Amino acid sequence: MFGKILLVMGLVAVALFMLRSVLGKSKKPPASKPPEPTQPSAQRLVHCDRCGAHLAESEAIWKAGRAYCCPEHVEP
Ligand SMILES: [Zn+2]
Repeated sequence: MFGKILLVMGLVAVALFMLRSVLGKSKKPPASKPPEPTQPSAQRLVHCDRCGAHLAESEAIWKAGRAYCCPEHVEP
């Protein structure tokens, strides 16, 4: 009976140790990962005010509230 309790306590201690090491690893950010945040998969699409080309909102060049696909199309 007493041996069983020791065994359970030992298993709990090992489980806690493993859990702590896993949590400690996940908290530390990997150095190789780039710092820029991951872009959401559902990008809002906009179209170029000049040529009408569709592009992601984040990739568009914005000027005076209008989206453009490239710097050439921003120029009047
Ligand atoms: Zn364009």
